[in-house]
Amino acid sequence: MADNKRIKKQTTIKKTAEQPKSKSRCPVFKKCGACQMIDTPYEQQLRKKHAHVAELLKPYCKVESFIGMEKPEHYRCKVHSVFTHDRKGNPLSGIYREGSHEVVPVDSCLLEDEKADAIIASIRGMLKSFKIKTYDEDNGFGLLRHVLIRIGKNTGEIMVVLVTVSPIFPSKNNFVKALLKEHPEITTIVINVNDKQTSMILGDKEKAIYGPGFIYDICCGMKFKISPKSFYQVNPIQQEVLYKKAIEMADLKGDEVALDCYSGVGTIGLIASPHVKEVISVEVNKDAVKDAILNAKINEVKNITFYQNDATVFMQQMADSGDKVDLVFMDPPRAGSTPEFIGSLITLAPKKVVYISCSPDSLANDLKLITKGGYKAEKAIPVDMFPFTRGCETVVLLTKTN
Ligand code: SAH
Repeated sequence: MADNKRIKKQTTIKKTAEQPKSKSRCPVFKKCGACQMIDTPYEQQLRKKHAHVAELLKPYCKVESFIGMEKPEHYRCKVHSVFTHDRKGNPLSGIYREGSHEVVPVDSCLLEDEKADAIIASIRGMLKSFKIKTYDEDNGFGLLRHVLIRIGKNTGEIMVVLVTVSPIFPSKNNFVKALLKEHPEITTIVINVNDKQTSMILGDKEKAIYGPGFIYDICCGMKFKISPKSFYQVNPIQQEVLYKKAIEMADLKGDEVALDCYSGVGTIGLIASPHVKEVISVEVNKDAVKDAILNAKINEVKNITFYQNDATVFMQQMADSGDKVDLVFMDPPRAGSTPEFIGSLITLAPKKVVYISCSPDSLANDLKLITKGGYKAEKAIPVDMFPFTRGCETVVLLTKTN
């Protein structure tokens, strides 16, 4: 009931003020290119995205209304800013111009958490007095390359990651003191050393210079540890809506064995664990599996097992050994699953499949194969995880027909 109420509330979308045609809501819209729908009123964004998903899924099932956000701005709780300087040596921070390494200065972004943007602005403002030079990609001089902020929306914890080319950060204690004076809400500060010529933001070495070096967030009543490199959805409000929908659609009775494929840091499996007998999770990324095991410990979940493996290989092994599962959650990356994974899924023959997708195109491709294998798509619900962009997240329930 509470869930229904919440969803109802979320679907009554407030009108965002329409902007005059000539002026974009974002001054760097053209240079950045991340928000394809920045100047489209929110309801219209949802209508457009719904039409796109509905068209792709037409052969399989009807698509319910998009679950939008009540306040679609500033949802990103993971914010990255690249640091450089102008010709006079004044520090600049912002984003890379699309397809290049030129930095477009950004002070505030409509997608990003406002506190994160304010912290980035403070750091930029402090650099001169601390004589900290920003890194120069052309000649390799300077220290500070990037700042990454991660916010635990439901815990209020804030992590600041200073990405530098060297582990030696001059007057680091005073720098920490000055930053905390401006933003006492920061709970941890980490120096991450990236001395390679690479497009990756984070390097391998890191050291907490204030606090524990990680934050926690809470999602659907479970606590999750977020380290600088952990995968965690960028929109925590809609993440909770999405996972609740996935669990609700699975209609769990408590005696099921559930498989969570492409499990990341264990989120869906852990959230489902109180509602089933057992969860088996599989994920290819070693660090994510480590985090998942830790997350199970933190939440005292005992009925979950994590396997680090390629999901297709794991699924084939499960199918070959004649294992039985009642339900499969699958949340593959953008490219979708593989025909071999789906072949094994069909052999495994769970009663239900809950497919969580971040790409309607690959979802449609995979649904074609799953429905051919004796499953019916019962319903599809799109959740707006990425307002102002083309991104569409959809949950689909499939049931076995024979
Ligand atoms: N379910 C998680 C993560 C979804 S993102 C969540 O909701 O947070 C997709 C995940 O699939 C990533 O963690 C990625 O590392 C993993 N992945 C990608 N290819 C994979 C493969 N071949 N086998 C298993 N996991 C894979």
